[in-house]
Order: sequence, then C-alpha cells, then structure tokens
Amino acid sequence: MPSPQCHAADAPRRLVSKPLAAIALLLAITMVVLSAIGARADQPNITMILATGGTIAGTQTAAGEPGYVAGKDSVASLIEAVPELKKIADVEGRQVSDIGSQNMDAKIWLELLRATSEELARPDVDAVVIAHGTDTMEETAYFLNLTLKSDKPVVLVGAMRPANALSADGPMNLYNATVVAALAEARGRGVLVVMNDEIHYAAEVTKTNTTNPDTMKSPNRGRAGVCDIGACVFFSPTTKRHTTNSAFSIGDEVSTLPYVAIVYGHAGMTAAPIKGALDDGAKGIVVAGVGDGNMSDVALDALTTAAKTGVVVVRSTRVGSGVVRRDIEVDDDTRGFVAAEELNPQRARILLQLALMKTNDPKTIQEMFHVY
Ligand code: ASP
Repeated sequence: MPSPQCHAADAPRRLVSKPLAAIALLLAITMVVLSAIGARADQPNITMILATGGTIAGTQTAAGEPGYVAGKDSVASLIEAVPELKKIADVEGRQVSDIGSQNMDAKIWLELLRATSEELARPDVDAVVIAHGTDTMEETAYFLNLTLKSDKPVVLVGAMRPANALSADGPMNLYNATVVAALAEARGRGVLVVMNDEIHYAAEVTKTNTTNPDTMKSPNRGRAGVCDIGACVFFSPTTKRHTTNSAFSIGDEVSTLPYVAIVYGHAGMTAAPIKGALDDGAKGIVVAGVGDGNMSDVALDALTTAAKTGVVVVRSTRVGSGVVRRDIEVDDDTRGFVAAEELNPQRARILLQLALMKTNDPKTIQEMFHVY
C-alpha cells in the first residue's frame, strides 16, 4: 500500500503532468495520422503534377480487355482519381503532352525540361511529379536527371494498367509518388521513379517486364527505397552526378539533340546497321553488344573505321545488368572506343547525346561515363 506521504507528494506532479501528457498524446496521434497518410510536417506548399500521357492516363473500352489507348485521360482526371493527394500537398496539374511514351522524342524532352524547370523555379512549388508512360520512362528520367538544375524533388510515375482497367495500378503509384515528392529526404537525390511500391534512381532504373506492374528494377545497385501505402523510406543515396552537380545544361537556343544511333548485337551481326546509322548522319553509335559489350569482327572493324572519322562509339550491352569496362575482350584504347560502364544502351545514348554537345573526344567522354 502506498503511504499517505506518497499520495501527497504525487498530487502536485499529477497536476503539472496532465496537460503535458495530453499534449504528448496529441502529438503522438498527429504523428501516427500523418505517417498513415504519408504526409509530413514539412509538407510542400504545391506539388505540380505534369502529365505526358502513358498507360497511367490510358483507357480501354471495357475493363478486363487487353487492348487500350495510352494518354487519353487528362491530368485533371488523374488528380481527381486520387482525392487522398490533397492530404499530402496542394496539387496542381499541367498537361505537357498526351502521348504513348513510345513516341517520346527530343522535342518533347526539351518541352518537358522547360516546363519542369519553370515549375521548380516557382517559390510556391516544392516538388514536381511527372506522369509518364513506362516504355521510355527510364530515358526521360535520366535526361532530366542530367539537365535539370534544382535540388527540389522530381518524381516520375506511371502505370502498367490503364486508368479504367481491373485493378489499375496508377492511383496507388501516383499516391506514393506524391508522398515521395513531399519528403524532405527526396531533395538532392536527382530524378526519381516511383512504381509498384518501389523508389528508383534515374541512373539505375530500367523496365524489365512487358506487362507486369512489378516491371521497374534497378539491376546493378538496387532500388533507392520502398513505399507501403504512402509510408515511404529511402535507402542509400546515389553516388552518380546529377541535376545541380551535372555539367550539362540546355539553353533556350537548343532545339534538338545530336543524332546518336543504337545498333543491336546478335549472332551473325553484320556491318549493315552501322552503315545505315552512318548514312543517316549519326554523330555517335551505341552498341547494345552481346555479353560484356562484344560484337562480331565485321562490326568491330566497321566501328573502328567510324571512330577514326570522329564518330563516337560506345560499347554497352544487351544483357540487362552488369558493367561494361574498358579493354576486356575489345581493345578500346587502340580502337578509340568508349565503354558504357553501368549505363544500358538507352541511357548511354542520352549521355552521349549530351556529351556530343560539348566534345567528341573519346577520353573526355569516357570520364563522363564514369561519373554520370
Ligand atoms: N506504351 C505505354 C507508354 O509507354 C506503356 C505504359 O505506359 O506502360 O506510354
């Protein structure tokens, strides 16, 4: 039994601690509610949602049918479909294009870059989410990663199922992407991709499955983080250079990018596609080589001749993961080639396009492949 003195001594402490306990309880409840909806005390003022098209905005005539048309729904309907977005940030929408991303090209990249830069420059905008088709999402993400000049979060998001499909994945992806964009930890990480409960870095991510929602993967270094119904956490930061650390910038005068072709390696590879690329005026050629960036002797000879004329040749791989290093089975030093290191052919092409706006020196370009 407690002594009467104990009761007497406790009494004033209880008087003081009750309001404190109530405040603590209120704070705890607020934290739980905020984390449940993915919001944070440092929630951005405005998150701009830019729409470019894609399956996330796709519609089919009847749910359950395989066929659909990408890019039919407007940015307003994407936002309306997820009323929970308003609990995370003030969201505004802007339509940049309405294409299937198989039709993404340098012209739309430049428009998207300028639209994104414009929104990021607004003091009342703290983040940008870009709804995009998944086919070329990794390319757009990487292009923006190298050319945007802002630390504010930029997150690309898409879907594998159209907006009116059975079990559409777009709304949850958009919700998670908006949560990630609202996180203070997302700042300074470069452009991110959020799909199927995973966060990926632009320098890593690639589409790995034709139809499955679990398609975006980071095969070399792993994903940047994970989400679970708006509870999103980051793992390690990327060590690749991007955005404010990138040496690439696109001025207002730029209206196109240098033409770089990708040629695909295979058994029995001939020089014909290389000749075709050169005839079309390619300033650079990326080889999606077999294995460790290898190719047939005839292809090697044709590319060595091209390199001597100032065309920059980059060896990447069709394999899907791994690093292509210099001088393993191909003597890059003698032939004047560049090894793509961790960049897959489609990303190597973008880096080479930007590099060619500065130089066609293979040694300088090799250094770029090392740091980006
Ligand atoms: N073809 C579509 C696109 O890239 C595929 C998708 O979004 O998943 O726009």
